[in-house]
Amino acid sequence: MDYDVVVIGGGYAGLSAGALLAHGGYRVLLLEKARSLGGRAAYLERDGYTVEYGLHDNRFASQGAAAAVFRRLGRELRFLEPGEPELYRGGEFHPLPNNVGKILRSPLLPFPAKLSASRYLLKLVLGSPARKYQLSLEEMTSRCRSAEALELLRVLSGIGIIAPDLRHASAGEMAAFLKKALRAKVKVGYPEGGTRQIIEGLREEIEKNGQIMTSARVTRLTLRKGIVGQVKTETAAYAARAVVSAIPVQELPDLFGGKDLPIKFVKKARELVPTAGIALDVGLKEKVSDKNGLLVTSDPLTMGQFTSNIDPGMAPEGKQLLSWYYPLPQPWMKNAEKVGREEGRLRDLLREMFPGIWEVVDWERAMHLSMVDGFLPRPGQTREDRPGFTIPSIDNFFLCGDTTGAEGTGGDAAFNSAMRVADLAHRYLQEAPEEEGE
Ligand SMILES: Cc1cc2nc3c(=O)[nH]c(=O)nc-3n(C[C@H](O)[C@H](O)[C@H](O)COP(=O)(O)OP(=O)(O)OC[C@H]3O[C@@H](n4cnc5c(N)ncnc54)[C@H](O)[C@@H]3O)c2cc1C
Repeated sequence: MDYDVVVIGGGYAGLSAGALLAHGGYRVLLLEKARSLGGRAAYLERDGYTVEYGLHDNRFASQGAAAAVFRRLGRELRFLEPGEPELYRGGEFHPLPNNVGKILRSPLLPFPAKLSASRYLLKLVLGSPARKYQLSLEEMTSRCRSAEALELLRVLSGIGIIAPDLRHASAGEMAAFLKKALRAKVKVGYPEGGTRQIIEGLREEIEKNGQIMTSARVTRLTLRKGIVGQVKTETAAYAARAVVSAIPVQELPDLFGGKDLPIKFVKKARELVPTAGIALDVGLKEKVSDKNGLLVTSDPLTMGQFTSNIDPGMAPEGKQLLSWYYPLPQPWMKNAEKVGREEGRLRDLLREMFPGIWEVVDWERAMHLSMVDGFLPRPGQTREDRPGFTIPSIDNFFLCGDTTGAEGTGGDAAFNSAMRVADLAHRYLQEAPEEEGE
């Protein structure tokens, strides 16, 4: 057998799991269907701009999940610290009251709203998040009579766990996020050079002890005696002692031809609802703003940043890169007309915030995405509900990615799941006889 591990998928999770296993001394083959690496965090070069796949920040910077992967690899991720987040309200930007101290000082909220919002934040951080996983933020705040407090909670849930609809936000997932945020010295970091620094660092680690194939779509996995025997692409078949799937779990049952997997797992995987929405990236011929933090609007809830104000290397001299995200319910994404109208609303909002912006556009890219983060963190889809890192009936098969039951949301879940899977696969490879999987 040429490889110890085949990794399917070259997004954050597959690259991290592959890098950690290669660093541990295993021969790794990573198969990625696209022409380039990075998945939903991929980047491209365009007329001197480095364009990411929408807005990409790292929660908790050097105390976050991507940095933890790099530390295990003996490498360091360099982060830049964005400015303080701001909320656009009534035609102006205001400091976003995102903790109890700021809430109590904020001129945006009347006194009863300050008390109410602070009370709910304290209620969330006190006690165990696990006891609140199946409770929605709407249920938790059902007695709240302050519209301003509810609006603020909606904004904080929207930017924290990407669940701006309180009906579809797990109080426990929000509580877990807030607890982590309270402990973190830096709440958010922007990797210098963007996602490129992460993707290229992980690629380098894999290539020290393994191989990466792009334009290599895995079409089928074959099972024999509880072991994944072969990983087939359109042109070849590979065998390895262990196989790591790092593709969204929603797509995984198809690789087994719709059979061989436990029915309960298949149902859970197929029915997992991701977050969705509109991502808008814009290259600007001239600077329209010097804001360098996350900018948030509450009606509708949208967020964005002038990435090149945080890292000037992301745009040519004198120009600017803007990335914005408007989360929408995933079922809406099937209705192009409806989403088109929302895109129009977002464009109007940007014009209102930055008059003249649409007159200085160098290029732009609007994407209507039916998967942004792998899951919407609502009750029934929390870390205790989502698929785990193994499938009980298959010994040499491991699952990672932002659709698994890992801690965190989006990129954090992808990196955290990869660390779990690297540990599990390592243990399996240490214990399993050499010939298994052939
Ligand atoms: C617009 C946008 C903004 C975001 N902003 C943030 C943010 O600010 N912070 C944050 O933490 N997260 C953010 N996210 C989420 C983050 O990008 C994802 O959580 C993360 O990239 C998921 O990584 P992954 O490896 O789990 O999955 P993916 O990136 O989906 O990787 C899966 C890979 O598998 C490949 N693949 C699929 N099927 C096959 C097959 N059959 N054979 C071979 N290869 C296959 C795919 O091509 C892909 O490369 C954002 C996402 C989007 C879209």
